[in-house]
Amino acid sequence: MNKTDNLKFVKNFSEEELIEYFSSINEKPYRAKQLYDWLYVKESLDFDEMLNFSKSLREHLKDNFEITTVKQKEVQHSSSGTKKLLLETYDNKFIESVIIPDGERVTLCLSTQVGCPLDCKFCATGLMGYKRNLTPGEIVDQYIHSKSIGSKITNIVYMGMGEPLLNFKNTLESLRIFTDTRLETLSRNRITVSTSGITPKIIELADSGLRVQLALSLHSTFEDIRSKIMPINVKYDLKSVLIAVEYYLKMTDTKITYEYTMLKDLNDRDEDIKSLTKLCKRMPSKINIIPFNSIKHMSPGGLSAELEPTSRNKLMLFADKLRNNGITVMVRETQGDDIAAACGQLAVKSL
Ligand code: SF4
Repeated sequence: MNKTDNLKFVKNFSEEELIEYFSSINEKPYRAKQLYDWLYVKESLDFDEMLNFSKSLREHLKDNFEITTVKQKEVQHSSSGTKKLLLETYDNKFIESVIIPDGERVTLCLSTQVGCPLDCKFCATGLMGYKRNLTPGEIVDQYIHSKSIGSKITNIVYMGMGEPLLNFKNTLESLRIFTDTRLETLSRNRITVSTSGITPKIIELADSGLRVQLALSLHSTFEDIRSKIMPINVKYDLKSVLIAVEYYLKMTDTKITYEYTMLKDLNDRDEDIKSLTKLCKRMPSKINIIPFNSIKHMSPGGLSAELEPTSRNKLMLFADKLRNNGITVMVRETQGDDIAAACGQLAVKSL
């Protein structure tokens, strides 16, 4: 194994792969469980601490592997209490994670790709383009770094940079780690995967047995408008996505959350309220209304440059009208826009 390639990171191996690896160096398979325990239960960052391994095994691991996949470069603090972590990967790429406190709840919004290929018009990450998928270790280490700066994470949302279901294998591996009962990290009810609607992967996630919460970036119930602001809707139209979501709910016995970024004159009309109400009555659901946060820091062109937020008054009225129709609505407060950490603003210009 070449220590200069990405394989050198031990957290990029699944437990099964570690068992195979230990067998290949004539070590007992149970060493894999012990190593897993050091990495994820004790969150050890140093092979020298692993005293239930012989000195020669510790030396072997040190010579062949590294533990931490991403380096912490910067922590920015918002006046709202939100923190944004800038992390650097082994190949000098940068990713961001956001920690959002809200009373007792502290949510980590983590990234699954460097950039994103999907080009949603309201999203700064989309404007960066796509560089590569993050490895399982790079996803999990965002959680470990967040804890290392003193944040007591109670919830995880896969809603940072990238589309998690386009990095399906690694997203799934990271979910397996987070939901592993040996770790006592978080229950599946506190982990949400947010997708723009990758139909076949929603079905696969439903069949995985992980039963985490699912959120759909909806933003319009009308196919033509949704295709305009989310080009992925041309490939997987809302009709097919909703069939997949229905299947997900049936298999997991959960509720769907619809993410809805309010865009002036595009999705904040009375007909949107009517259509959203109909959609929400179709299956157990709630809506998260998100104020559109400026993406001017990315100097966008085309439709992205023309988008404007719905006024605060109109947004609150929109939410009230939905509530009057019996729909569960949360209005997400903008948090962290002073450090470009609010929803839709994550992007690293230096890529
Ligand atoms: S909203 Fe999500 S899926 Fe769309 S471009 Fe941004 S990161 Fe990608």
